[in-house]
Amino acid sequence: MKWKIKNLSKESKIRPRKNLGQNFLIDHNVLGVIADAAELTKDDVVVEIGAGTGTLTEALSQEARLVIAVEIDERLVSVLHKRFSGYPNVEVVKGDFLQLNLTELTASSTLISEKSKVVANLPYYITSPIILRLLSCAKLFERLVVLVQKEVAERIVAVPGSKRYGAFSVAVQYHSDPEIMAIVPPEAFWPQPKVDSAVVRMLIRETPRVKTFDEGMFFAVVRGGFLKRRKTILRALSMAGKTFPELASIQDDDIRRILREVGVDSKRRAETIGIEEFGRIADAITLECGDLGQDERHDVCEPFKG
Ligand code: SAM
Repeated sequence: MKWKIKNLSKESKIRPRKNLGQNFLIDHNVLGVIADAAELTKDDVVVEIGAGTGTLTEALSQEARLVIAVEIDERLVSVLHKRFSGYPNVEVVKGDFLQLNLTELTASSTLISEKSKVVANLPYYITSPIILRLLSCAKLFERLVVLVQKEVAERIVAVPGSKRYGAFSVAVQYHSDPEIMAIVPPEAFWPQPKVDSAVVRMLIRETPRVKTFDEGMFFAVVRGGFLKRRKTILRALSMAGKTFPELASIQDDDIRRILREVGVDSKRRAETIGIEEFGRIADAITLECGDLGQDERHDVCEPFKG
């Protein structure tokens, strides 16, 4: 299907706000790529983050049961209200996505279908916090299809040993199976960004890629390991106790022994360590000094504070 794009931002003389990451999509081919990746059906509820003037919203509304379009900029919220006043399947929500309670936001969707889909051309200045927030509530979503800067897309799919691989890659791949669907040039947006973008699809996994005793410990080990990227994993984890309370009580000798026991050379760097290996390290530390009952502590869908 081809969609005609109205540049409502230009028409309504709304100056795009750079600080809100306002690069509006003006290429209908990219809409097609996003819609294909979303594989929408008439049963789907879609959450769109940063609806802008509604270009993507319009396309989504033609295929989905319900589109929940979130937008922070009051000027654009008015445009959206006008544009979609006659659309029973578009709900415009004004707000900062990072502050919304996602369980409440998707409550109407659970009445219709079990999980919603997220489809968005994300504001580049908060791409990672938004993706991490969505993944912390992964159980609410079937997939995420997002348009992001190409460099972020590369970090999402990066494998151990590659220069973009980091704690963010591990977090995304822990919860989902990600894939880059297309590279998008600057000309697809108004105003044009300076860099290429990419459409990424993340299919949320039924169960995380690794099963660990304590997810909090797993992420403390991953983030602690990458805190000092250039140092060995032994050195990085020894220093990480200052930042991550989960690792505060473990001694250097114990870390050295644990790494040996789980078969990870203590001289390796985090950037070479795979998710399963991080899982083994985290479980061994949990058995040594963790609290096996801790996993109930997070209410992960609470508003983001960080
Ligand atoms: N979806 C539109 C499109 O594709 O043309 C606009 C995409 S533009 C890259 C990002 C949008 O996110 C902007 O409309 C911006 O105002 C909005 N935005 C920025 N920060 C936001 C936040 N914290 N919560 C919700 N929307 C936000």
